[in-house]
Amino acid sequence: MKSIEEAKEMLGSLKRARLGFYPTPLHKLEAVSEQWGVNLYVKREDFSGITLFGGNKIRKLEYLLGDAGAKGCDTVITYGATQSNHAMQTATAARKCGMKPILYLTAVVEPDKEDVRANLLLDRILGAEVHIIPLDGRTEAKAMEQAYAMAGEHMALLKSQGHKVYNIPEGGSSVMGVCGFISAFAELTEQARDMDIKPEYLFTATGTGGTMAGLTAGRALLGSPVKVVGIQVSKKDETYPDRIVTLGMEGLRLIGAGESYGPEDFEVSPDYYGAGYEIPYQEANDDIRYLAGKEGLFTDPVYSGKAFHGMMDMIRKGRIQKGSTVIFMHTGGATALFSERAIIGDLCE
Ligand SMILES: *Cc1c(COP(=O)(O)O)cnc(C)c1O
Repeated sequence: MKSIEEAKEMLGSLKRARLGFYPTPLHKLEAVSEQWGVNLYVKREDFSGITLFGGNKIRKLEYLLGDAGAKGCDTVITYGATQSNHAMQTATAARKCGMKPILYLTAVVEPDKEDVRANLLLDRILGAEVHIIPLDGRTEAKAMEQAYAMAGEHMALLKSQGHKVYNIPEGGSSVMGVCGFISAFAELTEQARDMDIKPEYLFTATGTGGTMAGLTAGRALLGSPVKVVGIQVSKKDETYPDRIVTLGMEGLRLIGAGESYGPEDFEVSPDYYGAGYEIPYQEANDDIRYLAGKEGLFTDPVYSGKAFHGMMDMIRKGRIQKGSTVIFMHTGGATALFSERAIIGDLCE
């Protein structure tokens, strides 16, 4: 078990690109707290920078692109859906670091070529090289396999031309990316200490799992009693919690920590993704409107809105006891509000 200062020092051994504005704010949601008898705080990862459209990927990218820079890379390749927050944030980060962004994106929701929106529009403005892989009736996973295969050939070609390419998996959820959220957990723990609050729960949306891996690893590193709860935003197999642990442990080993933990040390809830990734549903959209109406705060229908809804459902049902101190990690993603109708559902009505 390490102190916050020791944890920071261990993380300090890694190369890091300075991209975001940290610490991100932590503040109370007074009206929601009052209505439900809890002390609800929000950790503003949506305020990470670099741009107005930041989010949880920027922290991961600080370590990923720090590593890329140390290795002398001039090109970054990554993956996601056409409306991927991660892909767009990677493109901003690559540009800031003077590297060329190449994106392999699966068309989970088919973009309208005449009316390019949201993150895909930002990718275009950034001048990212975008390759779109249609689903053609296949599963998202099958299309993603093709994306990785195509990118593999592309990387071989670029290498033969003398380029140095940094390959970032979906969501930036490699060991380097995980370190970003070990660091986030230390930052949050320090803020809570300074504000004299004792969080009992920490909620986040979880997709590729890197954010959860970092937070749970950070919790193990600091010996924190906070219950970390991930709200899944897409269907995953039963090995998902184990994969989170494997990633988190890799992060701990990379920074030289001996602590360990298991899937019993956190919770992932599969109850709130609805019909699947990028598919909105009524109750989650109702809670997006609820939060906006109560606090003037936006979440999105793909990630943070579903996570906020999952947390609120547990609060309303009394699974989170009255009087509890709860932190909602706002992971960003609000650009989805300006994406295709299939993604926003009834929010435009
Ligand atoms: C990527 C993303 C997540 C999930 O993070 P993972 O590390 O992939 O689990 C949550 N919220 C938003 C807005 C995201 O873009």
